Amino acid sequence: MENALDVLRRVFGYDEFRGSQQDIIEHVINGGDALVLMPTGGGKSLCYQIPAIVRPGTAVVISPLIALMQNQVDALREVGVKAGFINSTLDYDMRRTVEAQFVGGELDLLYLAPEALASQGTMRLLERGRIGLFAIDEAHCVSQWGHDFRPDYLNLSMLHERWPDVPRIALTATATSATHKEIATRLGLDGARHFVSSFDRPNIQYRIVGKQEPRRQLLDFLRGEHRNEAGIVYCLSRNSVEKIAEFLKANGIPALPYHAGLDARTRATNQDRFLKEDGLVMVATIAFGMGIDKPDVRFVAHLDLPKSIEGYYQETGRAGRDGEPSVAWLAYGLQDVVQQRKMIETSEGDAAHRRNLGQHLDAMLALCETVQCRRVQLLAYFGQDLGKPCDNCDTCLAPPESWDGTVAAQKLLSTVYRLERERNQKFGAGQCIDILLGKKTDKVVQWHHDELSVFGVGADLRDTEWRAVIRQLLAQGLLSVEGDYGTLVLTDASSEVLGRRRTVMLRREPDRPVSTAKAAKT
Ligand code: ADP
Ligand code: ZN
Repeated sequence: MENALDVLRRVFGYDEFRGSQQDIIEHVINGGDALVLMPTGGGKSLCYQIPAIVRPGTAVVISPLIALMQNQVDALREVGVKAGFINSTLDYDMRRTVEAQFVGGELDLLYLAPEALASQGTMRLLERGRIGLFAIDEAHCVSQWGHDFRPDYLNLSMLHERWPDVPRIALTATATSATHKEIATRLGLDGARHFVSSFDRPNIQYRIVGKQEPRRQLLDFLRGEHRNEAGIVYCLSRNSVEKIAEFLKANGIPALPYHAGLDARTRATNQDRFLKEDGLVMVATIAFGMGIDKPDVRFVAHLDLPKSIEGYYQETGRAGRDGEPSVAWLAYGLQDVVQQRKMIETSEGDAAHRRNLGQHLDAMLALCETVQCRRVQLLAYFGQDLGKPCDNCDTCLAPPESWDGTVAAQKLLSTVYRLERERNQKFGAGQCIDILLGKKTDKVVQWHHDELSVFGVGADLRDTEWRAVIRQLLAQGLLSVEGDYGTLVLTDASSEVLGRRRTVMLRREPDRPVSTAKAAKT
């Protein structure tokens, strides 16, 4: 058998292995099972491609990225590796050719879509060839909690039952220990060695700003720092994707939309243009991005709050694969919290599922509201310790002040308490703030809220400051929202504040936002 390092040099033209590649590759070549957690851009592909070349037989690679199989196979053939793929895009003749190559032992790698395994035909085909390795790419797709869940991935454990002697390697860029355990359990990888790389992406600068006028904020960010640079803007809904793409174009920024509601041709064209042309901005839902290998994505902007830190990490991870300075920018506001809580409340699935979604959201909110280094907090979520603040996130570059918000919290919570007693009517954040500020709006007068004792007691803060207070109380679990209109409600912990048994420290938004990536120390 050829040595792994020789293959790296001869076939792929690289001098050295990166990080733990060599350990992983040797372990798998020697027939061991492996679970590989490595950040995007870390070099996962070689971890199965080199064993595929070295080990006798064909490596069967399961990948959900049908749109990219052709590219991956072309790239391998380019360097002389015998690779093929089977998915729904192949016509009959091409499929027959690939099948014959596999059965004849002419392939080092065979890429398969997970749904292919559900077919008896594919299983009979696999029986007829000689399999040297199973590689399961994007293994987090087996996790039912994640937004990339693919039911077909649940069938993958049967590969091991049918071919118990063939080693398996599962790879993912998703890293929480919960997902990690779930992958191992669901794929039956009990004896596998775990290879966990550092998840830090030091060249990505993390910034999270309060959402005021999101379009203008986005435009300032793009014009001020990323003129003519490629990047991705994530939005929650298809509708806002369309609108933001139009808005950017109208303002002279070349932008393309991408979401699952567009027809396949438009999606493919836009994706292709983004990959091949310079300086395009892709405005997309999370449907865009898995497996996209564009090295010079200079920024990832979120106009809506991601549902979890896993999602945030995965999406921001698409920036800066080339190692050059890049920015992850997120604008988030009170409305995001209201909207996401509502989506959780109305989501399908049982109470445990909703609780799980709620915990993911809470962790994301805590990251948004932290006064500590974002990177330290992000990595801590993945069980990794950075050791010291990073000097390349907004809280490190412009440390936010914290202030004692206990009295403000008491005013706000007592307003919520008074409104809660009005049984038939539900009021959201806007009404609370109007009452605190002492504004006699029609709605305030109509409900006699100007007669409440709390009317006008909050005039020392501005509207935006009250919004920040509410956001942070939500993030700290001292307040909650319910129902269609985002009605504010008290939580069990609220009474500790109302009863003066708890102080509340809040984050003050920096007056001037961190505004240049160049300010980062390198
Ligand atoms: P991942 O799948 O983990 O996101 P890839 O396998 O696509 O990452 O690798 C990211 C990039 O790094 C690719 O362009 C790949 O060719 C390159 N790469 C991987 N390993 C090495 C190495 N040992 N030396 C140099 N470049 C590498
Ligand atoms: Zn930092």
